[in-house]
Amino acid sequence: MAATRRPARAVLAGAGAFALIATASPAIAGPADLSDLPAYSTQLDRPQATDSAFVTECSEEPRDLPINEFTDHRELGVELDRIERNSDGRVDVEQVGRSNRGREIWSARVGTGPKAVLITSEIHGNEKTGTDAILDLLDWLSTSDSAKAKRWLKELTIVAIPKMNPDGAELDRRGNDMTWEEVTARFPQLRGSEPAWNYYTGSLQGDDYSDRPGFDTNRDYHPDLDYVPRAEDFPGTSEDTGWYITPESRTVRDVYRGLTAEFGEVDVYVDLHHQGACYVMPDDPDEFVTLSISGKFVDDPATTQGYEQYAADYDLDYSKLLNVAVYNALQGAANNRPLFGNVTLYPQDTNLPGTGLGSFALNGSGTVLFEVRGQTQTLGQQYRAVLTRAVYIGLDGMLSAVASGRVDKLDPADYDAIPPRGPSIGSDASEERKAASHR
Ligand SMILES: [Zn+2]
Repeated sequence: MAATRRPARAVLAGAGAFALIATASPAIAGPADLSDLPAYSTQLDRPQATDSAFVTECSEEPRDLPINEFTDHRELGVELDRIERNSDGRVDVEQVGRSNRGREIWSARVGTGPKAVLITSEIHGNEKTGTDAILDLLDWLSTSDSAKAKRWLKELTIVAIPKMNPDGAELDRRGNDMTWEEVTARFPQLRGSEPAWNYYTGSLQGDDYSDRPGFDTNRDYHPDLDYVPRAEDFPGTSEDTGWYITPESRTVRDVYRGLTAEFGEVDVYVDLHHQGACYVMPDDPDEFVTLSISGKFVDDPATTQGYEQYAADYDLDYSKLLNVAVYNALQGAANNRPLFGNVTLYPQDTNLPGTGLGSFALNGSGTVLFEVRGQTQTLGQQYRAVLTRAVYIGLDGMLSAVASGRVDKLDPADYDAIPPRGPSIGSDASEERKAASHR
């Protein structure tokens, strides 16, 4: 079943090694990267008849849509096992934790380089393209003998957690599957506290949490990696730090802490998400935003009370450079398929120290947020292949720039010139839904 579930990958395996040459601008990618790009189908890079669907009506009204082409939890285990076995020792797959419902949380580690890169996906279970993009990347890096792959393996140590929230992913919803009672059973000091503000018990994005409540695990991080939950810190707010009350965020924290101990710092942290389906380009309301990116998640710690201790490590400029590398790679790909160029900057006024990106940025990592168009309740798997490909191109460009050192020659001012995200034209873009439809 795993062998047939994703027809596109069979095509990819047989495609020529020169596939992407025409889409990479030499001025951006540099000649060294043009000769050894990974093999995949050119089909995805050319305009498709379905691209016109990107400029028609749009709705944020939740619907039940098929998602079977995405990689579910069981299939992920099969795929990671296959990649590890075929990699001749390059890829090491480990179970690094368990979800609240006991599902394995896997990491895949590849490369022996001095720069540690942590990539996570599906912290929100209805945001799935990042998982498939990670598998495609591992697929290539696990077997390629190209000069490019060898450079990555020598310069980078990549650790990917492709499905951070498997319980939410199996339920195809944003939150995990955990009750407040389960939290207080583990942390008795919280008995009598008001449940965390990010505890879902009602209706959200078409999902009814009343029978199976859960948390937005992407508000459960704290920049103090040794933080222990305290009653006086609840219920908290979106502008506050989180608590590591969910086993899923604790697992990522533990991996991050382990890499910090091993490498001194985690050079890059990437978190892969989806946003609302109906955002348009700021200068063209007929073009939907394919992807928003960001490197800014918290207020400057140097001037924020209570965060001064993180100011010395925080490096917003490096995050900007990483995002510029993502942006440039997608603009290069847009030479052939324009929708890859519809990349905007995610709103820069966010202050979310309780997110993984916020907490790890405060610990000194360069950080990159991907926000691909449309969660499963609005787009299902309709644009799975091309959106997965957009994530792949962005990751590929950024990691290439880090591995080659080219990232340091980029200009942070180019980040500030990335166009801002335009408005949502969704027919049901209510305030409540908009608030829940990002990150
Ligand atoms: Zn998200």
